[in-house]
Amino acid sequence: MKALEKSHPKEGLWMVQAPVPEIGPDEVLIKINTTGICGTDIHIWNWDDWAAHTVPVPMITGHEFAGEIVEIGRNVSELNIGQRCSGEGHLIKTDSRQSRAGKFHLDPGTRGIGVNEQGAFAQYLKLPAFNVVPLPDDIPDEIGAILDPLGNAVHTALSFDLLGEDVLITGAGPIGIMAAAVARHAGARHVVITDINPDRLALASHVVPTLRTVDVTQEELQGVVHELGMKQGFDVGLEMSGNQAALDQMVEALVMGGKIALLGIPPGKSPVDWSRIVFKAITLKGVYGREMFETWYKMIAMLQNGLDVSRVITHRFGIDQFAEGFAAMKSGRSGKVVLDWR
Ligand code: NAD
Ligand code: ZN
Repeated sequence: MKALEKSHPKEGLWMVQAPVPEIGPDEVLIKINTTGICGTDIHIWNWDDWAAHTVPVPMITGHEFAGEIVEIGRNVSELNIGQRCSGEGHLIKTDSRQSRAGKFHLDPGTRGIGVNEQGAFAQYLKLPAFNVVPLPDDIPDEIGAILDPLGNAVHTALSFDLLGEDVLITGAGPIGIMAAAVARHAGARHVVITDINPDRLALASHVVPTLRTVDVTQEELQGVVHELGMKQGFDVGLEMSGNQAALDQMVEALVMGGKIALLGIPPGKSPVDWSRIVFKAITLKGVYGREMFETWYKMIAMLQNGLDVSRVITHRFGIDQFAEGFAAMKSGRSGKVVLDWR
């Protein structure tokens, strides 16, 4: 089969011929139709310090996918050949305290496909049946291929009650924009999204026309708080940039007793004005991955009931044009980029 592999410990990815994976009794084989390029894949392409310390070579990359089940292991009874699916790319064990309490997304033994285990940028992927998420007919493969990052957005956005609340999102990357769509769908009052890149803010308005976008290089958040008639500030913050300045602005713009869910990953250690968080009595929650499988359940239910994130997909390429897809991602001007494997 064709597979997009990190074959050498240096910049780039290579299209190689790899054997079709052999499945075990509890696994399924998925024929891949569509994949999404993630920021993680860009780190692996660039071979930065994180990638060099984390990813063994050779490694088939990729973890955002939609496809169809073509083979099932002998212990698998709930799934059928021909079933369209996406799936959770975090592979977990069942012996930790967290897993045994049903909090699979907090299992410390988690391994990621396309990072620690062979990934989804290939014509076939093997996956534990446990990780498979069947796709309803009304969710196309393209959307199936971005459920992983949409799941990050949903997990973060639904960390706190948003109904009637004023929500600030810092970072209008694909995940921030999708989180804004989720916040709207979940009944937030005002949803404001910030960035320093005007292209990203334009995309945010294109995907969710009712957002108030703020270019923080041009405009102060405090003015927006007054403009929208908020008495003190935002009730809930969703940090989606990984940028220290954005977190500082968020803490300043929140009400006393505000809540922050942190998804963005800063590049290294960053100084935090801790006393400001204490005196404002702010609740902080770190968010990793997606809840298995509550996030998946809610995400699919919302997609079937009016949540529309389709316009966040800005580029589509056949798999032989993968280099163009990665270039589009690296330009900082794209939303989600999807690759078609058929
Ligand atoms: P992205 O890099 O495409 O988007 C981040 C955006 O933040 C960019 O548009 C950038 O211009 C903007 N930004 C930079 N400085 C800013 C500032 N001062 N104020 C406001 N915006 C600013 O990333 P993405 O794919 O949308 O992912 C969002 C974040 O979530 C990233 O940090 C990513 O690493 C992280 N992430 C975390 C998890 C997890 O499990 N915790 C999973 C996936 C992604
Ligand atoms: Zn991803």
